Amino acid sequence: MAIVKADLEACQGYANCVVGADDVFDIDDDGIVMLLKATVPDQDRARVEEAARSCPVSALAVADE
Ligand code: SF4
Repeated sequence: MAIVKADLEACQGYANCVVGADDVFDIDDDGIVMLLKATVPDQDRARVEEAARSCPVSALAVADE
């Protein structure tokens, strides 16, 4: 299991993360990322990490629980 964290101050609403993992990331009415899950199982981790890395402003992190 891994924890997903989002820096809401840094997010600029590019939505790359949503394209990469729409089961974990969404954009709220203010155009800021929101987490649909706080944790992801190990089998999803690589895919979610790749989505997090696609953020142009490095607002996302995936960490060990
Ligand atoms: S890719 Fe980054 S800047 Fe874009 S919505 Fe996701 S967290 Fe925000």
